[in-house]
Amino acid sequence: MRIDPRPDLASADLPELERLLEAAGAPRFHARQLFRWIHRRAAGDFAGMTDLPRGLRGMLAERFRIATPAVSGRDQSTDGTTKFLLQLDDGARIEAVFIPDTPANTFCLSTQVGCAMQCAFCLTGRMRLTRNLTAGEIAGQVRVLARELDMLDAPFNVVLMGMGEPLHNYDATMKALRILANGHGLAVPARRMTLSTIGVLPALARLATEPLMPNLAISLHATTEDGRDRLVPVNRKYGLKDLLDACRRFPLARRSRITFEYVLLAGVNDTPEDARRLVRLLNGIKAKVNLLPLNEAAGIPFDRPPDEAVNRFARVLSERGVTVSVRKSRGRDIRAACGQLITESGRAKAPAQRLADLIHA
Ligand code: SAH
Repeated sequence: MRIDPRPDLASADLPELERLLEAAGAPRFHARQLFRWIHRRAAGDFAGMTDLPRGLRGMLAERFRIATPAVSGRDQSTDGTTKFLLQLDDGARIEAVFIPDTPANTFCLSTQVGCAMQCAFCLTGRMRLTRNLTAGEIAGQVRVLARELDMLDAPFNVVLMGMGEPLHNYDATMKALRILANGHGLAVPARRMTLSTIGVLPALARLATEPLMPNLAISLHATTEDGRDRLVPVNRKYGLKDLLDACRRFPLARRSRITFEYVLLAGVNDTPEDARRLVRLLNGIKAKVNLLPLNEAAGIPFDRPPDEAVNRFARVLSERGVTVSVRKSRGRDIRAACGQLITESGRAKAPAQRLADLIHA
């Protein structure tokens, strides 16, 4: 695939656009209009930017491009969840998911093509990491989905819970959040954004100092160092105890809490003893727990616990005063649920081949 060498303006924040225009000899006040066209109106080219001088539009089109993920597939679940397969300029493919009414409308975004974290129960990790997404590609998922769904003027939440580990692609992720928050663009308030992480500690320390602070979700999944080492390989580098210490220190807005995500795997981490240990670990942290009964998939060597085990686990937490919710799995019939996002790069493979790849991975 031929790569377009022109710089991508969708990856620029407003101050950068102002500098670019100035350097090109154009008045900087046009930057706001340009930003608004790209991010608020989801314009894919310069020609239709009717309030910009014709000459400027021509100059921009020659020197720059607006990278816009192309929708190459769309699958709607019986529960209304819609999974979009998006193709990027270099042919790489990612998935982004629209989840209606939970209670808000939510866009679930990817931050990387694949993932390097290799959590034992997650399908995305099977792809390995191909590359980081740019800020424009991360924010662009919202633009494209909102345009497709006629939601550019509607309120929505954004969760970074698609493919990839956001804190393993820190700069582009935070820049994307700033672009989404900008009042000249979609103006998504920070309280409507959630960053979910496995706990890359140096990046978490950086996040603690950001002026734009999304809600924080930590993927915990185990209550002992050994148990977490087995499920989440990065725990061998950034262990459970240090992660919880970082959470204890994390600056939280008033009334705000850290969400701890906990995948429940039958016979592995779902006993009442695990639940009691979890309560002790969270002591002193403003926390709520979101239980994620495993979404099963071919090639994932774990089972989803029966509902009774899930309820028993939740009860132990709530009886001890921990706020707990059980994530209702959305879009499982179209493989759009947590940990089920996986795309092949390059040529599409037949489903049977895909299954064989997974089983033999
Ligand atoms: N890398 C980020 C975002 C990933 S996905 C993170 O780890 O937080 C969002 C959540 O889905 C994570 O908590 C992840 O552990 C969970 N998840 C992954 N695979 C899953 C599966 N098969 N079933 C249920 N949840 C899963």
